[in-house]
Amino acid sequence: MKNKGTKHVLQFGTRQISYCLHRAKRKRLRIVVTPELRVDVFAPNDAEDEQVRAAVRKKAPWIAKTLDKVESYHPLPTPRRYISGETLVYLGRQYRLKVENSSNQPAKLLGRFLCVWVEDKADTKAIKRAVETWYRKRARETLDRHVEKCHAIASCHGVPDPLLAIRAMRRRWGSCSPAGRITLNLRLVQAPVHCIEYVIMHELCHLKYHNHSKAFYSLLSRCQPDWRKRKGALDRFRLCS
Ligand SMILES: [Zn+2]
Repeated sequence: MKNKGTKHVLQFGTRQISYCLHRAKRKRLRIVVTPELRVDVFAPNDAEDEQVRAAVRKKAPWIAKTLDKVESYHPLPTPRRYISGETLVYLGRQYRLKVENSSNQPAKLLGRFLCVWVEDKADTKAIKRAVETWYRKRARETLDRHVEKCHAIASCHGVPDPLLAIRAMRRRWGSCSPAGRITLNLRLVQAPVHCIEYVIMHELCHLKYHNHSKAFYSLLSRCQPDWRKRKGALDRFRLCS
């Protein structure tokens, strides 16, 4: 049977890196970062736990850098607790969650607060539902509008009409299928508008080139000359959100 390994967490600065430790009949420690953003550590059967931890800690800068490289276009969701006072991000701005007892009503932005009304303030499931419904609605409106705006530019460069889907994705901001369907991450609505437009334009350009070839980047640069700046901002946003 295949050894599935044990889960561990490595603290690297403010960052927590999870890894899976596999014991095996081997001489040296090996660390692998997979395209799925999993960190696998293969350690000799006879290495002491503390020894392994120290070795992994020593490689932390490399692991973090490699994860960033793999992940530069792939966000991970932030777990939320759904309690009053918690910070939420929408279009690059921070809001506080405000939960109030009342009959259930749709969530609403009021000033710097996202207000949620539920019958029972301790019912985190109901709060989660209300917040998610709100995000979904905002995502649909915002992303639709910006896809239209970006496509108006891209269509001048021969990019066909997209089919759009919005859903929660674990590892990517967006994707494009060979059949011409663009899928955008629901969480994208948390990013600043110029970053949202970068992801959309990137995916729109994939409707013409289903790869990251020179031709693809040349098209992207024509459609959005400052895409590198936007991408940089998106990467930074992901790191601090
Ligand atoms: Zn791409």
